[in-house]
Amino acid sequence: MQHLTTVKDLRTFVRESRAKGKTVSFVPTMGALHDGHLALVRAGMDCADICIPYIFVNPAQFAPHEDFDSYPRTVEADLDKLGVAGVQAVYLPKGKEDVYPEGFATTVSVSGVSEPLEGAFRPHFFAGVATVVTKMLLRSLPDIALFGEKDWQQLQVIKRLTADLDIPVEIRGVPIVRDENGLALSSRNAYLDEEQYRTALSLNRTLFAMADKVRSGQDQSEIESWGAAQLTDAGFEKVDYCTIRNASTLQKTNDNSDDTLRILAAAWVGKARLIDNVAA
Ligand code: AMP
Repeated sequence: MQHLTTVKDLRTFVRESRAKGKTVSFVPTMGALHDGHLALVRAGMDCADICIPYIFVNPAQFAPHEDFDSYPRTVEADLDKLGVAGVQAVYLPKGKEDVYPEGFATTVSVSGVSEPLEGAFRPHFFAGVATVVTKMLLRSLPDIALFGEKDWQQLQVIKRLTADLDIPVEIRGVPIVRDENGLALSSRNAYLDEEQYRTALSLNRTLFAMADKVRSGQDQSEIESWGAAQLTDAGFEKVDYCTIRNASTLQKTNDNSDDTLRILAAAWVGKARLIDNVAA
């Protein structure tokens, strides 16, 4: 597996792959790889001849009070997993000076879809994500880039920005990978102790139960209040949101027959802020 660490290496690798008639997919990650990330890599290997994952813990998407410093960093284990998966090359930007050199002054900001939910609770977050993803797509110019449905709103923001900025890359979503109890895999699950893990399980169970209630025609506001109460009763200390939205715009809708509804929640247990979502 080749380690590409400079933009020049990355571009040369992509150009030479293309010259051999090969298609290229790209999988952005912040490392601490688990089976959710590896599902993206496998999907990337299935849909293109060459899949290039990258690992970069992006400081621009963390607020000063958030967990940038303590975010799990397991690069050696990550590289082992990518090697076992059969990846031919991984992109490892050298650090924040490489991505945000002195004088860096540009921010990509997506209005509309990035404003509610995560955008409301983490105001810096989507600008940080949109800026780094734009840079990384322009650095690599792959045929396809893959993102997890786990971060549903992020996926919609990235689809919006690539369409708006005419970035010639197809964006594909990959379904959420869950553990045997239904908890969506997340690098932040490493923060959970046993009791918090039990609380965490109520997140996916509540969302799936809410989806059943939507299908049976119940009132959306009542379902949302019920869902938030379930999470609090199960031990979540704070529920940022637990809501039913149009799947692409993330706006509220009271129409249960809308066949593109998504139910999304974010809630705190201990120092972990967990997010999850399901189709309704
Ligand atoms: P992260 O390293 O957490 O920024 O995630 C990198 C990519 O992996 C993002 O596109 C995430 O949506 C995706 N991802 C993370 N966890 C999962 C999961 N459990 N299932 C599917 N995709 C995931």
